[in-house]
This record gives sequence, structure tokens and C-alpha cells, in this order.
Amino acid sequence: MESVCRREPVRRHVIIGARGLRGVCAGDGGMSVAGDSMCAMKPAVKAGLQPLWRDRDTLQIGVDPRRAIALTGLGKAAAVVSLLDGSRDAAEVVSTARAYGIPPDATNRVLGLLASAGVLNDFPAHLHRALPEYLRARLAPELACASLAYADGDGGARTIARRRAAFVRVHGAGRIGACVATFLAASGVARVSCADGGRTVPADLAPAGLTQADIGHAREAGVARAIRRIAPEVQTRDDGAQPDLAVLTGARDAELIAALMRDRVPHLAVKADEAIGIVGPLVEPGISACLRCVDMSKAERDDAWPLILAQVSTASPQACDTVLAAATAALASAQALAYIDGAGPRPVAANGTLELVLPEWQWRRRTWPPHPVCTCGAGTAAGTGTAAGTGSATSGGEAAAGGEPRARSA
Ligand SMILES: [Zn+2]
Repeated sequence: MESVCRREPVRRHVIIGARGLRGVCAGDGGMSVAGDSMCAMKPAVKAGLQPLWRDRDTLQIGVDPRRAIALTGLGKAAAVVSLLDGSRDAAEVVSTARAYGIPPDATNRVLGLLASAGVLNDFPAHLHRALPEYLRARLAPELACASLAYADGDGGARTIARRRAAFVRVHGAGRIGACVATFLAASGVARVSCADGGRTVPADLAPAGLTQADIGHAREAGVARAIRRIAPEVQTRDDGAQPDLAVLTGARDAELIAALMRDRVPHLAVKADEAIGIVGPLVEPGISACLRCVDMSKAERDDAWPLILAQVSTASPQACDTVLAAATAALASAQALAYIDGAGPRPVAANGTLELVLPEWQWRRRTWPPHPVCTCGAGTAAGTGTAAGTGSATSGGEAAAGGEPRARSA
């Protein structure tokens, strides 16, 4: 499949020259105006970007300046944009436009400018063959979003293909775990299982998770039913295979964490209690900071941290309201998908945590670099430059580094 070359997203509102068609685009073109690559594709304006008129002669594609481009001096050639729905190859676009009185040179020029601005997709014909109609229709917003977010030129096909090949096991089926499982399934992840040995209680219920009918029944089975309601094609049965990613939403389980580290299974820690939601770290064993790395860093700031940690158990009820659970689950799912998609920047939960403290409702990131003494090996890897940098601990938007709690005299 030919596609627009990977390029930086168009983040500027680009005005194409006022006298005739003249291109000034953000970034490299990557596609010849009438070259072989263009001829081989069925160009379509990226789904989610609307053609809008700025004035009689200027067509803007997209609304937000961070996505939009504008073409000035189009004249009759503006009609070419209406032909770019993925149903015609470039030659057919040219011949159809010619029937409207638009010269081939002008049509090719418009195609080239749109392609170089990153707003054209190669129509993903193979994806349409691979996905059943109902699934293609349901995933259309995922495809459109991925195509814009990652500046892919394949209509999101690569992203969906990765999700369709992924297996995620979610540990814990409480308010957060059940939501994460359904979010990932709805986003196109083909296999999502949930590991939880408990039964549903009223405090587990959540709009995207367990329901009233699940109360008293196994939470695992309730999550599978919740997944089937939104994504019936998703495989929820767990045959014990090693997942591509584990999401840890339940009580901390030292044995499970040790097994994940031993088997080199990437895992994402998620929790919300004490009216604080925390997503991360995303642990790639031996590459990014593990949970022990984080604890060792915390212990350096608070001598009593290991003792405190040893006494922690799950509070009942947890101080995690419905909206905090949903917000935490949504961001955790986003980080999981960022890892699975493997495009764009490295997930920010690697070597860090994203934290939401109520009542501020503002996500902040804390940096947790691999600890040099931890036996997970990420510290050594970081020292040799194999772990990507994640910015300094004092970069903008960072939460204040934690330490001992504020002292109160009795
Ligand atoms: Zn470690």
C-alpha cells in the first residue's frame, strides 16, 4: 500500500499562496504531485477534517489551527476536494475533474498540496476487506482519530492492525479495571481478559463497567459481559497466554509483579484512592522504571515509606468517586493504547506517573527515573542511553515531588 510518508503533524494554519496555486506547507512533502505514488493510491481527505470556506477563494480543511490548512487561489479547482473520498485513484480523480472543466495540471497541483500538507489518506482498501462492515462502522471514529493524531497516511489502518493483534489482561475488575477493559475492547483491541476472583458488590458499579445485574456474581464474568455489550467480537476468554500488556488495577500483588518482571511482561499500574487518581508507571521490564524503582526513590525521600507500604491494604470504601474512576480509567486506557499503537512519542507514563488530585482536577506528571540500585536493570539501561529520556523532574507541569507527609503535632 502506498501512503503519505510519515511526517510531523501539521500544527500550523498554512495559507497557500494567494496568486495561483502555490504551496507553503509545514513539513516535508513526501509525495510527488503526479508521481507514481500518487497514481497508485486512492486519495481521501482525512476523515474528521471538514472542508470549510474562509472566503470566496480560500478553502480551509479542518477547524482547529493545529490541524487545519488553507488553500487560496483554487478557483474552479476547489471542486477537486469533493472528489477525494477514497473511491477513485488519482487518474480517475483527474479524469472526473477534467469533465468538470478543471485542467489536469490544476488537479494534480491540488492533490500534491493536500498530500504534502498531510491531510490526505491512502484509502485503506485492504483494511475494508479485513474488517466486517459492522466493525468498520463502529471503529470509524478510532480510525479517524488515529490517522490525525499519529499523522498516518493510511487512514488509521496500521493502528487498528496493531490493536487487532494485541492481547491485554486487566487485573482487578473494580470501578477502574472494568472500565479499562471495556475502553480497550471498544477501541479495537482484539483480546481483553480480566483477572479477578471476587464477586460484584454495589460499590463496583460504574457506567462503563459492571451493572446492577452483576451484583453477587463473579466480577470477571461481569466484565466479559460488559465487553460483549460494546464489542461482541472481542475475545475475553483467557487461555493463560502471555499478554502484550498487563494493566494492574487491583490491590498490589507482589507475586504477580514479580512474575511479570520475570517474564518480561510490560505492565501499567493504575489506582485511585484517597481522592487521588494515579496512572503509571508503565513498566517495560529492564527498560523503564519498575514499581520497585519508584518505591526506592520514594524511600529516599521518606525513610518510613517501606514500613508504610508494608502495612497498606485496600480501604473500604475506597475514596474514589465515579468520575475519578472514569477519568483515571480513561487516561490509563489512553496510555495502554499509546503503548500498543507504538506510534507517536513514548507513552508519558513510562518513567513517570500521571496524577489527578481532587478537587483540582488537573492531571500532572511526576518523573520516576529508573533507580540505579534496583535489580530490574532499567537503571543500567538508562545509564547506557537505552531508556528514552523523559525530561527533568522539574519540567513544566510536573507535580511537586512527594516525600514525608506534612507534619501535624498532636
Ligand atoms: Zn526497577
